[in-house]
Amino acid sequence: MSNPTVLINGAGIAGPSLAFWLNRAGYRVIVLELAPGIRPGGQTVDLRGTGRDVVERMGLLDQMRARALEQSGAAWVKSDGSRRAEMPVTAFGGNGLVSSLEILRGDLAAVLYEATRHDVDYRFGATITGLEQDENGVIATLANGTRLPVDLVVGADGPHSAVRRVAFGPEERFVRPLGGYHAWFSAPDTVGLDGWFLLYQAPGGLNASMRPSHDPAIAKAGLAFQAEPLDYDRHDIDEQRQMLVERFAGAGWHCDALLAAAADADDFYFDAFAQVHMSTWSAGRVTLVGDAGYCASPLSGMGTSLALVGAYVLAGELGPAEHLDTHRLSSALARYEEVMRPYVDRCQDLPRGVEGYAPMRESDIVITAAVMKWCQRWPFRSIAERKWFTTADSMALPDYR
Ligand SMILES: Cc1cc2nc3c(=O)[nH]c(=O)nc-3n(C[C@H](O)[C@H](O)[C@H](O)COP(=O)(O)OP(=O)(O)OC[C@H]3O[C@@H](n4cnc5c(N)ncnc54)[C@H](O)[C@@H]3O)c2cc1C
Repeated sequence: MSNPTVLINGAGIAGPSLAFWLNRAGYRVIVLELAPGIRPGGQTVDLRGTGRDVVERMGLLDQMRARALEQSGAAWVKSDGSRRAEMPVTAFGGNGLVSSLEILRGDLAAVLYEATRHDVDYRFGATITGLEQDENGVIATLANGTRLPVDLVVGADGPHSAVRRVAFGPEERFVRPLGGYHAWFSAPDTVGLDGWFLLYQAPGGLNASMRPSHDPAIAKAGLAFQAEPLDYDRHDIDEQRQMLVERFAGAGWHCDALLAAAADADDFYFDAFAQVHMSTWSAGRVTLVGDAGYCASPLSGMGTSLALVGAYVLAGELGPAEHLDTHRLSSALARYEEVMRPYVDRCQDLPRGVEGYAPMRESDIVITAAVMKWCQRWPFRSIAERKWFTTADSMALPDYR
């Protein structure tokens, strides 16, 4: 009997990570990605705690270190650029808001792809549109009409997962809006960041930010705002740019320059701050990993770790590539959920949500900066450490060797 085949939809962070482990365990792995190639975008993501442990077990930590960004820390600035508060990269033992090992999301995706592309069957510009399953397997129908018989289908296709929609139901049942929106894109570094992640908060629930990239002339910019759920077309980028102009034009600091950059950026990305909550991540021979099943939102800072750890645990529980009969599969998927659920719950527990990131009132902006400054000092330091900066370490990685 040939080794079982696993079909993964989505080649972001969770998809290639899962492909890495399943290929090692002897499975035949096919990865579909809607985009024409690995998507390069995104800001810096931190590799800390359990997520970093997974990367180390993959043997990829040195490659990540080689691509790491030199960072100085985070600072909250006023409109004139003067600083309300700073949290240097050394705060909380290198485990603060900006951690000691930060890498661009696009670099992380590229390293994971490079580590798997020779052994895994990647198909770009492809997606799943239909699934039919029985106790012997699943037939996945792709957008081009191809029908693929496989043993297991995994949705690793992000918060707007197509696999989740087909196998579990419409997005509205699982995606919980958090009351705001965010955009990311590259912009000229008009500030001279010198390794600093700068955050400018303005009354009305606005947050503009700039972070370093590999190119000192280019910043990774963010514009985020508080709002009740808005009715807009997710595929209409010009409409999204206009939504930003309506809120950020004349808002101070470098907002106008950032709006001009957003208008031209070819890596512009816009979405709602939202979480995915599901009572179960598996339905028969279909399961979910990463943002598709348990997105914690960028506000958590834990999306990458959840994807890396989720992929490791799912592959570990599936075990070696032996026949995936219904009983073996369902108990592996149940254990995956049992191991991951408490970690997911902790990562999704956001102390202040969008209000903390983009406060409405000037007084709250002042308080946020004061909290960020004082939480690094005695006697608040240990309380802050326990409450905010230990989630990443809060899971002991099972050993599947
Ligand atoms: C371009 C981009 C930039 C990002 N930037 C940041 C950032 O700056 N900061 C941050 O905190 N998080 C960012 N994220 C989200 C972050 O990557 C995830 O929260 C986290 O890493 C979990 O990874 P994931 O693999 O589950 O989801 P994702 O990284 O979102 O990957 C999902 C993949 O599935 C693909 N996909 C989507 N729909 C389909 C479909 N129907 N069929 C096939 N493939 C599909 C997507 O193109 C994507 O490659 C970004 C995501 C993307 C895609």
